[in-house]
Amino acid sequence: MPSSSGLSAARQTIRFARERKMQDSSMVMHDGSLLTKGGSYRKDYVRFNRVIKTSKQFTQTVRLGKILDGGYELFFICDDGAAICQPCAREEARQIIYSIRNKINDGWRVIGAGSTSEGDEPLQCAHCNNAIGA
Ligand SMILES: [Zn+2]
Repeated sequence: MPSSSGLSAARQTIRFARERKMQDSSMVMHDGSLLTKGGSYRKDYVRFNRVIKTSKQFTQTVRLGKILDGGYELFFICDDGAAICQPCAREEARQIIYSIRNKINDGWRVIGAGSTSEGDEPLQCAHCNNAIGA
């Protein structure tokens, strides 16, 4: 159990980053850190970043997975205002990271992330055309 001090800053992360088993048996902890099978520790492995300016902020956010706590769906916002779903963002991560790093406004540059809310009109993924949060 983590100590009660210093938890307020991590509260948002705790909300979104559920403890989950990784393929290699590494564990993502409630504070978003990663504990690998080998015992090493990586702080902020998973993190919900609403504003994305760096490739690190993108990878931290895409690691949250498609469905967030409460059943809300994660999506990303690109420089052209289009939304893309988490599976597409993960699949096209190489392209997205390239555009973020080189500040190329080609529609792949992710600038933010959001989550669907109950009662909202479903969004449409600009890449696969699937509904997000339907
Ligand atoms: Zn998609």
